[in-house]
Amino acid sequence: MHTKEYRTNRVLMQRPNRQRLILAFLLSLALGGCAGGQVRAEPCMEIILTGTMGGPPAFGGLAHAGTLIKYGDTGNACGDVLLQFDTGRGTQQALSKLGTSSAQLDAVFLTHMHSDHSEGLAELAQLRWHFLAGSLDVVCSADVAATEPPPERTMSCGNFVRNIAEPLLRSGEIAQRLAENPLRNPGGPAALLQLKSVAIPLPETPGTVVWSSGEVKVSAIGSSHVAGHLSYRVDTPAGSVVIGGDAGNKQPVPPRASSTSDRVEALARGADVIVHSTIHPVMGPGKGSGFPEHVFYRQSTATDLGAMARRAGASHLILTHLIPALGAADHGPYTVPGSGLGENDYLSATRTSGFEGKIHVGRDLLTLRLPSN
Ligand SMILES: [Zn+2]
Repeated sequence: MHTKEYRTNRVLMQRPNRQRLILAFLLSLALGGCAGGQVRAEPCMEIILTGTMGGPPAFGGLAHAGTLIKYGDTGNACGDVLLQFDTGRGTQQALSKLGTSSAQLDAVFLTHMHSDHSEGLAELAQLRWHFLAGSLDVVCSADVAATEPPPERTMSCGNFVRNIAEPLLRSGEIAQRLAENPLRNPGGPAALLQLKSVAIPLPETPGTVVWSSGEVKVSAIGSSHVAGHLSYRVDTPAGSVVIGGDAGNKQPVPPRASSTSDRVEALARGADVIVHSTIHPVMGPGKGSGFPEHVFYRQSTATDLGAMARRAGASHLILTHLIPALGAADHGPYTVPGSGLGENDYLSATRTSGFEGKIHVGRDLLTLRLPSN
């Protein structure tokens, strides 16, 4: 599945010898004398933001948090392995704009159990079930008790996944559709989701591989935001990317050196790209937004993310899950000071850090391909 074939050669092998030689000669001329006419399909990776809205509010039709990572080669549009990191509201619609179906996904990785990162999974599972697609790996944290009150609160990705289609079961739809087509999985959409829990305690240092397929390796590290938060790194021959999620600093309030996570920084060392949720400093305390302090402090600011990307040596920093969204006058019930933020407000806040790589201010369906030209 992931072998890098000499695709042109494969076609040639099916032809008679003489015809094959002529074709090879013509191809070598067309390709500037490439030895034997062989066209090497090079490994490639695409990082696509399926949603950039930060936090629960809805604004401007933006989809909520999600990043699609595609890996393959130049002969198949990087399409061998498709991994979806977070599945916020609108993920299904975003995939459809890319011409990608939920049935093509190989695995879903959830950073944490907040609805702006997870609620789109129900639609993905339902559609796969409806059209008889196979099982789908879901990687997330094992159940973890929160460190804050109330003490009985447990963040449970397992419960979320096992009950993903509960409303549809309760409404009678699943039984009705099963009666129409008994080829559907009798267990309903949840039965297609293969839970791959990352054990507690979550990894504290880089290197724990939680999923792999051929040349694609996904590792995870536990990071601060809410209990069970995971940040991920994808390594492929075409490049590597870190998905920070909503990670913040384990020191929940200032004074502290940074709002970013030391663990994510360690995970990102040597990676080409960092994709990270971002809050603009303008939403901070005392600036008139009314935004809750504790929510502000558990996100990473654009400025601190730039500094982290610089220290980690990344070439690209993709800001996503923007709080506030570009052009929004409000973030839910909170006011955006001034008249809303534009791309330049995020760029200048990030550049203050001295990061000299490329900064991408997230928009839905923003795509970065590796290796970059
Ligand atoms: Zn979030």
